[in-house]
Amino acid sequence: MTHTALPNLNLVPFVSVDHMMKIALDVGIEPFLFGLAAYLEEDFKRWELFDKTPRVASHSTEGVIELMPTSDGEVYGFKYVNGHPKNMQQGLQTVTAFGVLSDVNSGYPVLMSEMTILTALRTAASSALAAKYLAPEGSRCMAIIGNGAQSEFQALGFKAVLGVDKLRLFDVDPAATEKCASNLRAKGFEIVRCASAQEAVEGADIITTVTADKQYATILTDNMVGSGQHINAVGGDCPGKTELHRDILLRSDIFVEYTPQTRIEGEIQQLAPDYPVTELWQVMRGEATGRKDSRQITLFDSVGFAIEDFSALRYVRDQLARTGQFQDLDMLADPDDPRDLFGMVMRASEAA
Ligand code: NAD
Repeated sequence: MTHTALPNLNLVPFVSVDHMMKIALDVGIEPFLFGLAAYLEEDFKRWELFDKTPRVASHSTEGVIELMPTSDGEVYGFKYVNGHPKNMQQGLQTVTAFGVLSDVNSGYPVLMSEMTILTALRTAASSALAAKYLAPEGSRCMAIIGNGAQSEFQALGFKAVLGVDKLRLFDVDPAATEKCASNLRAKGFEIVRCASAQEAVEGADIITTVTADKQYATILTDNMVGSGQHINAVGGDCPGKTELHRDILLRSDIFVEYTPQTRIEGEIQQLAPDYPVTELWQVMRGEATGRKDSRQITLFDSVGFAIEDFSALRYVRDQLARTGQFQDLDMLADPDDPRDLFGMVMRASEAA
């Protein structure tokens, strides 16, 4: 069921997976990523307004379940997200998510949404936005190491925001590379399938690592990264789960979303707790320098932060009135007399 107008306060608009796909296709994947990047930039630039806390993680042997809350004082949002690298072997997603936006004044939810697809879109839009400030001028060619669920979104995000149109793909599983290349066929890319990570990074302006493994992995070694390259490190996002050799970090200028969270989860967990890093919002507001010259190696140590999910939910909410892609959820008990909750239950039993 879909609607053409926003619902009343007592019904909560719910965006299902099916609705999300229809919204993304209706807006267009690249315009969606471009539009979302603008919402992200707007929210990063009003950084001080937000409540900020590292996400609340519950780790298990096979993965992690996390809650990611934030508020700008008017709207509150949170995301529930998991990360289970072995899921893929059982035909399940590594990452699934849903989220909620609420009105701070009443505390009432105003949106509930699937966020598995939305997380892939917001991660790609965040990566591309960071690269707008950090990647070498005129970047066209990107290596993508790890060609799983996130990879096509990353490619299209960088095309939409930066104009990247050459991809060099590598995955330890050639079937993943084939899937990625095939999904991106006719999307305006020149695509090279590579036999190793080493081959993939050759000649690339930007290197995206987006692999999944719950361990200290070394997807890139120091010798593989040349001067001037921008690294978009997406897959290392949990304690004990990294992708880059430590020596690369020591040669790079490192940019993060929210330092206290990235110290726990990002590539920089391999460095001293006071190792200098720059938060992206500072660069976006012109309070810190991003790329200084053509020889500098820049690294976006992405882990995914609550404000990005907040921006993504905000963006989706703004697409509802036009697209009508939501359904009303009867999520809020609404007795005529707010104190007569019990009476409402009794009247329901009489009606039944
Ligand atoms: P996925 O399981 O669908 O894909 C991961 C791919 O990496 C697989 O195809 C796998 O074969 C490949 N891979 C594993 N080890 C490799 C290696 N050594 N070299 C090359 N390829 C290798 O997972 P996904 O949903 O695409 O997520 C990828 C990673 O991104 C995960 O670690 C996830 O936690 C992380 N992630 C980060 C953010 C963020 O905001 N930073 C957001 C979403 C996902």
